[in-house]
Amino acid sequence: MSIEREKIDFDVLFVGGGSASLAGAIRLMQLAGERNLNLEVALIEKGAAIGSHAVSGAILNPVALKELLPDFQEKGCPLAGTVRDDEFYYLTAKGSYRLPLVPRYMHNKGFYIISLSKFCKWLGERAEELGVNIFPGFTGKEVLYGEDQQTIKGVRTGDQGLGPDGAPKANFEPGIDLQAKVTVLGEGARGSLFKEIDQKLKLSAGKMPQVYETGIKEVIQLPENNYFKTSKGNDIHTLGYPLGLNTAGGGFIYEMEDNRASIGYLVSLGYRDPLLDPYDEFIKFKRHPFVASIIHGGKVIEQGARTVTTGGYFTIPRLVVDGGLFIGGSAGMQNTPGLKGIHVSMKSGMLAAEAILAALERGSYTRQDLEYYQQLFEKSWIKDEMYEGRNFSQALAHNGLMKFIHLGAQYFTKGRGLIDPMPLEEDHKTLNALSHHAGDTGPTPDRKTFDGVLYVDKLTGVYLSKTKHREDEPCHLLVHDTALCVSQCYSSYRSPCTRFCPGSVYEIEVDEETAQPRLKINPSNCLHCKTCDIKDPFENITWTCPEGGEGPSYTVV
Ligand code: SF4
Repeated sequence: MSIEREKIDFDVLFVGGGSASLAGAIRLMQLAGERNLNLEVALIEKGAAIGSHAVSGAILNPVALKELLPDFQEKGCPLAGTVRDDEFYYLTAKGSYRLPLVPRYMHNKGFYIISLSKFCKWLGERAEELGVNIFPGFTGKEVLYGEDQQTIKGVRTGDQGLGPDGAPKANFEPGIDLQAKVTVLGEGARGSLFKEIDQKLKLSAGKMPQVYETGIKEVIQLPENNYFKTSKGNDIHTLGYPLGLNTAGGGFIYEMEDNRASIGYLVSLGYRDPLLDPYDEFIKFKRHPFVASIIHGGKVIEQGARTVTTGGYFTIPRLVVDGGLFIGGSAGMQNTPGLKGIHVSMKSGMLAAEAILAALERGSYTRQDLEYYQQLFEKSWIKDEMYEGRNFSQALAHNGLMKFIHLGAQYFTKGRGLIDPMPLEEDHKTLNALSHHAGDTGPTPDRKTFDGVLYVDKLTGVYLSKTKHREDEPCHLLVHDTALCVSQCYSSYRSPCTRFCPGSVYEIEVDEETAQPRLKINPSNCLHCKTCDIKDPFENITWTCPEGGEGPSYTVV
């Protein structure tokens, strides 16, 4: 069926409403204002509102914010606290040991603790003030290419009102072709459009494969008299228990305003044990005596999950194509050793804005015209930060003592270490067969002890993320071969999707008629974290955008 679609033209289109796109759009309008240029700039966001899909630690290094909006305090930037001091602990099963040295890249004193959701909402308001057309609830579903199939011409937004079989229902509204002279992809880690363009235009040719961590995070309302009232530090990071030294990952607890704590646990998706469940590791972390004493008497008020790009400098793809640029997490922007990505994402958007403005002034948007962004990046402090951490994820992937030998060598050689560059392995290739790992993950948390208040199960977590999807739409999780799930994947790995998904989206159930196991998918629980798209050992799952405005509705995480 051919569908008549509305077409709207813009000068510049930003896809994704995170900190990278918002900072980029603001910077572009500022530069245009300085030159009296009248630009039509649009930004689309798949969440129902700007900030509703934004989840991160989050400690904000304000370097990019100060450059972008020096009067951010006067403009009411929502800051949930300031870091007084950093504390770094090594956790054993029962004990905690404060490390005498906090690595220099984790010195956060004076930085801000924020809710990324609130911060993005505020940035969105600043962008609108400057004239950016912001369209929340619109997904970038397809890339529009020029006739040469190399030039990006914009994106098609997702159709609304399709039935489960993909056929239009009575309330069908076709997606719109948003055409632009320049399209900026800022979809965050594992962007689905970026993934398609990367495969088609070979953006990552000659680069190391991108790798990721998946994080579960909560905001907890603490009692009035809480740990942070008397502690010197309010920025706590941990290593060790529950993952131990053979799997990369760790925890964080930050003090927020109004007696709240931001708590989270990140697990490298390069983990090898197919029985590992990142959510279980998060619960074990919360139950550790040291952590439990900090959050005691609290109540979870919001939960979220998201993947983070952690590969570093060697994984950064080509940043420009004809008519398009890539910024933020999609482009691998992350200071991995510093556990911070917001400031580098913002700066990447701001550098892209400078290059776009120069191209608009010339009236030409080829790869050569936009290449200025790549040059600005190579001369920027983002490059310096990321170059120092260029071998960090690789070192973390080592087991036991070797991990610390590599990390130590890199620490004293500004990232060079013992091997430079160190290779990375794609996350979907790292799982070992079941037999290698009997008992490695330790006992799973006893679900009977979940109180639904401070310790909640996955489904309560989905509820606390306020995730919603229409039940009768086409499934946005494409499992390419469901037979493989119950044959090879179950026998080799015991269906790891049933564990690595924080939303309990995947289940193996027994078919009543055939008495055979089969995969059941609950797409309406999906938190849009993208873990399944990354970690499935057979690359059998593709995450696609559901209808616009669906997914989580974060407000404070
Ligand atoms: Fe994350 Fe995939 Fe589960 Fe959705 S289905 S919550 S993207 S792992």
